[in-house]
Parts: sequence; structure tokens; C-alpha cells
Amino acid sequence: MPIRYKTTSTSYSLSDLVTVLPEIGEKRAKKLSSIGIITIKDLLHYPPRRYEDRRRLTSIKMLNQKSECTLLLSVVKSRIVYTSKGITQSRIILTDETEKIEAIFWGRGYLANSVFQEGKKFFLFGKPEKYNGRWTITNPEYEEFIPEEENIHTNRIVPIYTLPDGISLRSFRRWVFETLQKVKIVDPLPSEFLQERNLVPLSEAITNLHFPNTLEYLEQSRRRLAYDEVVQIQKRWSKWKNTEFDKNACVHKTDGKLLSTFRSNLKFKLTRAQEKVIGEVLNDMSSPKRMFRLIQGDVGCGKTLVALHAILSAVDSGYQVAVMAPTEVLAEQHYLNFLNALSAFSLKIVLLTSSVKNAPEIRKKISKGEVDIIIGTHALFQESTIFNKLGLVVIDEQHRFGVLQRQKLCMKGHCPDVLYLSATPIPRTLALTVYGGMDISVIDELPPGRQPVKTYIIRKEKRDSLYKFIIEQAKQGKATYWICPSIEESESREDLKPLLNIYSELSNSIFLSLKTDVLHGRLSFSEKADVIRRFAEGKIDVLFCTTVIEVGIDVPHATSLVVENAECFGLSQLHQLRGRVGRSSLQSYCFLLPNKLAQLSAKRLKILCSINDGFKISEQDLLLRGQGEILGLRQSGESDLKFIDFSKDLHIIQQARDDVFSDKI
Ligand code: ADP
Ligand code: MG
Repeated sequence: MPIRYKTTSTSYSLSDLVTVLPEIGEKRAKKLSSIGIITIKDLLHYPPRRYEDRRRLTSIKMLNQKSECTLLLSVVKSRIVYTSKGITQSRIILTDETEKIEAIFWGRGYLANSVFQEGKKFFLFGKPEKYNGRWTITNPEYEEFIPEEENIHTNRIVPIYTLPDGISLRSFRRWVFETLQKVKIVDPLPSEFLQERNLVPLSEAITNLHFPNTLEYLEQSRRRLAYDEVVQIQKRWSKWKNTEFDKNACVHKTDGKLLSTFRSNLKFKLTRAQEKVIGEVLNDMSSPKRMFRLIQGDVGCGKTLVALHAILSAVDSGYQVAVMAPTEVLAEQHYLNFLNALSAFSLKIVLLTSSVKNAPEIRKKISKGEVDIIIGTHALFQESTIFNKLGLVVIDEQHRFGVLQRQKLCMKGHCPDVLYLSATPIPRTLALTVYGGMDISVIDELPPGRQPVKTYIIRKEKRDSLYKFIIEQAKQGKATYWICPSIEESESREDLKPLLNIYSELSNSIFLSLKTDVLHGRLSFSEKADVIRRFAEGKIDVLFCTTVIEVGIDVPHATSLVVENAECFGLSQLHQLRGRVGRSSLQSYCFLLPNKLAQLSAKRLKILCSINDGFKISEQDLLLRGQGEILGLRQSGESDLKFIDFSKDLHIIQQARDDVFSDKI
């Protein structure tokens, strides 16, 4: 094959930096690093966003108006045209021996001389149009035809990538193409192993990811890369799991005084699902094998109560417990809830966040063993906290799955049992992948007497009736949460209704007769605690707040939840917010107030109106948005999930897990 582009004769290895490519210098390398491409391996594992099928080769005679096609043509004549506005144009007449067509390139006069030389042959791809009986094609994709040579941009299935400013699609595609010619990819997996699992070899998979010959090959390649992806994640889990620690973890008492008192003082009967999961958890706690368990359950199913069983069992056994929350606000709320739930006991419970003033003193107490339960953000645990006798770590994940990072805490010189709580129920396939080596318990039942929250989308013209409804409810002693996505006005997001504006606007007009207040993350801890307390005591009718209320606030007489800019939230997050109401046998309501309603968000919000089951909602969310967004993993840069498709890959995920955990790989 002739060499189309001038390249050096060396070959690349996957670990080389992208700067080994002749066209990539410091500047371009920096741009590429913004999309995670640093090495040749990253470049080759960067998935196209979509593909364009440019295989439909046709002749001018057969053209029909406005459908995309590829033509193979020779240049008859080319010229530069200077338009009145000073823009240049290339106008190229080409022919395929049946007829002629004129290609017009706006703003690219240079093409006429430097590229489209008379007599040369080109592939063009685009949408031809017929004016006055003549065919033209504007700004088509073009590529010279050289006999016996493979094309990159035309006459094939072509990859389209999402790229940073200043990196052109054509260049990037060419870099990938050239790299594929010059890199040697050694498959770490033997071919027999691959055959057994019906997986294609790695080099084939990577080549087809970018330049598939058929869409079927593409799917096979994606499956192979998805397999590798799961293996990588599972390996990280297994590395952590199969340590000596794992077999010599703390053995906790499960018949201690605190736990039995707590159990006999419970005001209600545990659900069957809670009993089952508590059984699983206490079984783990009492065994020398390290507990490593995820509790999944819909909002309101009573996960906190299960966690409290584990916590009291650890404290009964003389151990300390760390409770990690993803944000300060959530840590504060857990703190208040725990104080409340455990008020009957004389336990030392402390809050450790960066706004706590006497942190050094608290740390000293922790290290001396004068504290039983420590609640805080994971950052604070990681810095300089030394535990005296850490026996249990409870990790509250919410919808931010920083799983891999948080493992660090648990390594800290101890071998505590680990209990994850996930507030976002996720489908089994996803849980298996993201939570690799964990045991999973599901609480699939709500406490009795709960009524589904009635959920409505409220249009602008209906706001007045909503106000009336809220006032009516307040008269009956029922309270409302009014949620806004942002605290203050922001120039970049004019579409967002700011909390403080809405609060003062409504409190001073339509809600003048009601007791209102605000709650957001900028208040100090004691201010927040005070507002929450007054709300719980029924001294506030409408609480205007940000999503700080997402978790942990438990006020049974709050029966309405209003969400401004509902279109800005993820479905699972809205479901979680909705979990703040419906906490008693009173009928509760959720009102979604979208600002603008694009088609997709309308579809999403409607799901919420018709489905009350968190697992089903996250499945739907998954189908509509893709897993990365749900998990918040892609944004946080912790994601390896480029290729897995949870709607199709259950089999691959299970296979990869089995292979890792049976040490086959
Ligand atoms: P989650 O954290 O799973 O969203 P919580 O633990 O906050 O749910 O529990 C929700 C509410 O239900 C709390 O008020 C809790 O006291 C109450 N609750 C928990 N278990 C039961 C039960 N078995 N019967 C009645 N109420 C319960
Ligand atoms: Mg909870």
C-alpha cells in the first residue's frame, strides 16, 4: 500500500505520550489532555460519539435531492471566487463520466489551487442539490482517491468524535488512523480464552471501534472493550478485597446492651425486608470475615434504621464508628438525626467537618478513644484523623459514587467492617459493576401505610392555583418544601429561579399570611439546625430551600414538595427529593415547576408522575440519559465506563466478574 501521509518509520507503543505523533506538540497535547487523552492508549480508547455511514457510493445520474451520498469524481476545473464580503470560495467542477456537479467550499478558496487539481480523483460526501437543472454540493467532505489505498474520511463508516476547540475532526481522525497503522497491540488474553467467551481480539476491537467495516463488527468490538472495562473495575475491588485484613476483621457482639435496648424501644414494627437485611448485616458483623456490604433501597424504606443496628453493635463491642457523608450539609444532617435517634443513650457523637471550629481537639478525643461515633465528610477522615479503635465505617453514597477513592479510609491501619448505603437505587447490572466485590442487600419494601406521592407537572399559568393549594394545606397544619436549584441570581444561568428572590417575592405577597423561612448551605450549622428544628415543630409552613434537604430531614407533617426549575434535576435526584414527603399516612404531593420544557425533559418528568418506585425510575433514567450521567462518574473523572451498555451487557458483566473473582484473569 502506498503511504498517503508522511510519517516517521518508527512504531508506537501504547504507553507512549501522544506527542510522539509528528503533528502533536505541547499545545495540542494540552488540549487533548482536557478530554483525558495523554497516551497513545488513551487516544485509541477514545470512543467516537457516533458514526456516519458514508458508504452509499452512487453516480450523479442516480442522485436524488437532499439525501446524503458519496460520489467518486474527477476534477474538471477549479477556480477561486472572491465574494463581495471578502470571503473566498472554491468552486470545483467535477465529473463521474455520467454528468457534472459543482462543489462549492465557502471560505476555503485555497482548496481550489492546493487540493483540487485538475485530473485528480476525489470522494465527496454530502447532500447534493439541483438548481436550474444543475447539480451542486456545498461544503462536502472530501478526500483524494488513490488506487488501492484505504480512505479515512469518506466511502466508509466514519467516526465522529467530541473534541475540544482547536482540534479538528479531520486531523483527529487521521491521527487515530495513522496510529492504528503504527502501533502494536498485544492482547493480554490468550485466543482460546477469547474464543470461549466469544470476544474479539483487542487489536481488532480497537481498530473497529474507530473504523468499523460493518456495524455488526462495531458492536462486537464494543462488547470486547466493555468486558475489559468491567475486568478493570472488578480487579480494583478484588485487590482490596483479598487482603489478610479481609479474613481478620473485627468480630462484633450482636447481643449487647445498647442494641437490645434500642430494639426493644423501637416505636414501630420493622418491615420484613428490614428484618432480613438487619439479619444479613449482623451476621457479617459477628463474623471475622470483613463485612463489605451495600444496602440498596428506595427512599424512605428505612435504611438509617438498619445502619443504626450495625452502629450499636460496634459500639456495644467497644469499637468506634465512622460515618462518612459526601458533603458537609449531609454530614450535619446525619449528625442531627443520630443525636435524635440515639438520645436515649449516653454516647459520644461528634461532627467533624471543615467548618467545625475545634477540629484539632475533636481529633485528639477520637485518637484517645473518648468518642464513639464520628460523623463527617470523607475528606476529613482522610487527612489527619487517627482512630483509637475503628470497628465500622458507614459510607453514605447518595448519588455520588466516589467508590474507589473512599476505599482509602478503610485501609487506615484498621480492618473495620464496611457498610455502604445507597440512596439511589440502581438496577442490578449497574450495581454489580460499580460495586464490584460487594455483597448487596436490598430493602424492597416500604413501611406500612405509606401512600404514593401524587406528582404533577405544573405549567406557568397554573401557579396561582398551586399557591392557593399550599395556603389551604398550611391551614390544615400541613407544611411545604419549596425547592430552588440556586441560592442567588447568576449571570450564566438566567433561566434559574434563585431561592432568595422567590422567597422574598412570595413571602411578601401571596404567602403573607403564612410562616416562611429559608434553608441553604450558606447558613452556619447552628442556623441550619435551628431552621430544621422549627420546621419539624410546625413553626414554619413553607420552607424555601436548596437541595440541602435532599437527605435526612424527616418531618411527617410536611406533605407538599414544590420544585422550581424541575428540568434541571436528574430523575433520581427528584425522586430522592420527593422522598422528603410521603413520610406518614397523610396523602402527599409533589409539584414539578419546569421553567422551559424541552421534549426530553418533559418525557423525563412524566416518568416521575407515573412511577413511584426508585428502581424503576433509575432504570428509565438509564435508558434516557446513559449511565455515566446518572452516576455522576463521568463528570468526576473517575469513570471507566466508556463502553459498557447496561441495557445490553448483563451477561458480559457477570462473565467478567466471575473471571476476576475466580482468578482466571
Ligand atoms: P431512608 O434513609 O431509607 O430513606 P429512613 O431511614 O430515613 O429512610 O426512614 C424513613 C422514615 O421511616 C423515618 O421516619 C423512619 O423513622 C421511618 N421508619 C423506618 N422504618 C420504619 C418501620 N418499619 N415502620 C414505620 N416507620 C419506619
Ligand atoms: Mg436516610
